Amino acid sequence: MAEALEVFRGIGKLVSLASAAARGGRHVTDADLAAIENAALVSENGKIKWVGPEAKLPPDYRKKRAKDLKGRVVIPGLVEPHTHLIFAGNRSAEFEMRNQGVGYQKIAEAGGGILATVRATRQASEKQLAAIGQKRVDRFVRQGVTTIEVKSGYGLSLDEELKMLRAAKSLKRARIVPTFLGAHAKPAEFETADTYLDYLIETALPKVKKEKLATRVDAFVEKGYFSADSTRRYFLAAKKLGFGGSIHADQLTLSGGARLAIELGAQSADHLVQLGSEEIAMLAKSDVTCVLLPSADLYMDCAYPKAKELMAAGARVALSTDFNPGTSPSQDVALVGVLARVRMKMTLAETLVAYTVGASHALGLAKQIGSLEKGKACDFAVLTGSIDELFLDVGQMPIHTTYSSGREI
Ligand SMILES: [Zn+2]
Repeated sequence: MAEALEVFRGIGKLVSLASAAARGGRHVTDADLAAIENAALVSENGKIKWVGPEAKLPPDYRKKRAKDLKGRVVIPGLVEPHTHLIFAGNRSAEFEMRNQGVGYQKIAEAGGGILATVRATRQASEKQLAAIGQKRVDRFVRQGVTTIEVKSGYGLSLDEELKMLRAAKSLKRARIVPTFLGAHAKPAEFETADTYLDYLIETALPKVKKEKLATRVDAFVEKGYFSADSTRRYFLAAKKLGFGGSIHADQLTLSGGARLAIELGAQSADHLVQLGSEEIAMLAKSDVTCVLLPSADLYMDCAYPKAKELMAAGARVALSTDFNPGTSPSQDVALVGVLARVRMKMTLAETLVAYTVGASHALGLAKQIGSLEKGKACDFAVLTGSIDELFLDVGQMPIHTTYSSGREI
């Protein structure tokens, strides 16, 4: 069988982020944006076979027909490590209520919030969810995103959660990382959060595992949702079955999510708006990636995570949209980056590394994606302009084309 070989030449600048990847996405400096000038890239069966200055391209590849990237800048494909992109309906009325002073928890108690999306999603078929989801994937791809984490969590029963995960599995063009978020909220059918978690442990997790519909779990550790103690029990059961995972941690209150993520060896702790200095020091020492979701903070009109303190302490940071119908109804990658830069004072280098190398760690995929190095997936974005135009113009990522596994998507 002929091997699928793709040769890319005429790359004006190739920003590999290899140095940032070598440091595990920590202690990022501007030097991490250093580019290989006049570069070439070779993809074999979807993986990078060779990368370097075009002048040094081995003769074998030189003979092959190449795609000319016409002097443009190439960066690693962006990684969205936290989305809820499969859902039906919308929560526009709730957005208005929240802006007029009604609290998130109050909206939830009144039957709004997550449970409103659960009702709409349960009514949609798997096919409908897949079609809605694919449009959203396409929107991310146009912004240079090549890997997208997709959470379930709007089904909250075995069949409905499986429906969501199957819809996620059918999504095309980007690399999809499905996460089982059964522990998103307690459905009305269950008396207590703990009886619901028992059900997830006994019934849902083994089935998700058997059908290979997700490799990760996530839980919403928050007042009124799941306590740290209940989540510990759930996460340990998931770990026993081989699931990795994340925790929605310390978003609305300091409820012990980050500490729990560290204790359990989770891949990431996400949100982290309410951290104290002790938690920051603990996260920095741990291998847990801090996934920051500033567009959710914008929509929630709350504080932003202490990104500078986290990074100075040595923590690894990732960024994502948290795209969901309630608290972050936006797929705008540029907005996330602009908020990171303006509100969290992250440098351009820190922002780009967080959206690539950092995010790859959050999903447990640091060996496969996040930087452009030999052996990794040939996932990259071609820019329309210079690297300085990234995360500058809200609503507008300067993306010319996006490639996944060496193929234009
Ligand atoms: Zn979320």
